Amino acid sequence: MTIQSPKDFWLQTLQKIEPSVQRAMLITWFKDTAILGSEEGKLIVGLPLPMFLDWHLEHYADLTLKIVQEFDPSITQIVYKVDISLQNGDPRVLDLLTLFPAKKQRKLPGKQEVRVAEGLTGKILNPRYSLDSFVVGSSTRLAHAASLAVASQPGGKYNPLFIYGGVGLGKTHLLQGVGNEILKGNPHAVVLYTTSEDFTNQVIEAIKSQKMEQLRRRYRQVDVLIIDDIQFFASKERTQEEFFHTFNTLLEGGKQVIISSDRPPQELHNVLHDRLRSRFERGMIADVQMPDYETRVAILTERAQGYEIFLDRSVVEFIAEHVKDSVRTLEGILMQAVAQYELEHRMPTVRSITEILEKLSRDPHAKKEEVGFTAPPLRAVRFQDVLEGVSRYYAISLQDILGDSRVREVMIPRQVAMYIGKTHMRMSLVKIGELFSGRDHSTVLHAVRKITEQMQGDAQLLREVRTIEREVGVQS
Ligand code: ADP
Ligand code: MG
Repeated sequence: MTIQSPKDFWLQTLQKIEPSVQRAMLITWFKDTAILGSEEGKLIVGLPLPMFLDWHLEHYADLTLKIVQEFDPSITQIVYKVDISLQNGDPRVLDLLTLFPAKKQRKLPGKQEVRVAEGLTGKILNPRYSLDSFVVGSSTRLAHAASLAVASQPGGKYNPLFIYGGVGLGKTHLLQGVGNEILKGNPHAVVLYTTSEDFTNQVIEAIKSQKMEQLRRRYRQVDVLIIDDIQFFASKERTQEEFFHTFNTLLEGGKQVIISSDRPPQELHNVLHDRLRSRFERGMIADVQMPDYETRVAILTERAQGYEIFLDRSVVEFIAEHVKDSVRTLEGILMQAVAQYELEHRMPTVRSITEILEKLSRDPHAKKEEVGFTAPPLRAVRFQDVLEGVSRYYAISLQDILGDSRVREVMIPRQVAMYIGKTHMRMSLVKIGELFSGRDHSTVLHAVRKITEQMQGDAQLLREVRTIEREVGVQS
């Protein structure tokens, strides 16, 4: 500390911390932190927001101390100090986003065209859409399995592959995932991904300029033809005819065709002629539907990792519970939470997500049927309710719970009350400590940890806590 600048010292420390925490966590919780000074073996670490305090005390204080001691054994304690003037641009603060660059690449612009063969262009495949990153649940198991089978053996059994389902349920993801997977195994494969609109336009253009023969020849180079959203196919005699021929030529040549639509083939009669529809029906048909709750949680968790944000489990579960119409909406809410965090530096909480949901359901531009959720009412449980619930359940007076008796019959209920205040009501350790006859935050932390650990092996305690939680109306 004496030789180095505080900034260098902090950077060294963070570099040692990084391997033990995820990068997203490091960015979230160490952005805008700084060493403010040191005195008599105490290292003073500045935090930009009060809410960081608890998190550091609970999760990083021990680790941080251990690491700084490796550099400077004279440090015996870390003291946190909230200083809201710490923010991006403050000279005391490290630029973590630059110092710890993301390893993963951010998404590419989606509209780009790519030339796949002589005279043929398609849309570029988004590398984020892979069959690995697709979270499988019971509602998409068949579609995903068929996609995998096609990717490992294009032109095999499942040809054509037809995937249908509502908006935002993962059709494009699966289609492009197959394309990406095939290209991974064989970079020279000619994979043409196109929309039915682009395909129609191409055919119409060729008919007009009498270059249909040329277009057909070009399509013969294709190994895998992927047409997304076939429901937009223009129902014109000549385009249908051409499409049918192209399609047949490819299938007969053992080439793979993959198609998506918002409805099953039998409901496409306004769009496609019978001949074409029955051809689809001879292939593999699979639907995608809205994933169940567990899968929604898994999707959110997977997507949150792509952003530099840490989401509390309760927040993830809350979003999964209330968004039921499409995966796209699910992602939309997540992105709003990310924006809120980046712009306002507000950590997403159940409360802030509720605000987003309420705003969306009020937004006249967001059509109800598209949004598909109702904002839950905010039920305000006061900590007083929790204390009373605990007091009732264990038949112990409030004075005893809040007082300083150390007999077991009182200690456990007291610790349970602290646990509920912390985990369900998001109260700070300091605040809880104050309510309990001015106890120190470390006492509260100890209590919360103890109950959390004990509940894992003690079924009786677990039941007690769950019952109280239900009775007072808090549930994560
Ligand atoms: P569709 O083409 O059916 O309208 P998309 O494939 O565009 O839907 O999916 C919308 C968004 O949801 C995409 O960002 C996609 O990656 C994501 N998504 C959908 N289903 C899943 C899933 N099962 N696992 C992971 N991401 C998914
Ligand atoms: Mg799509």
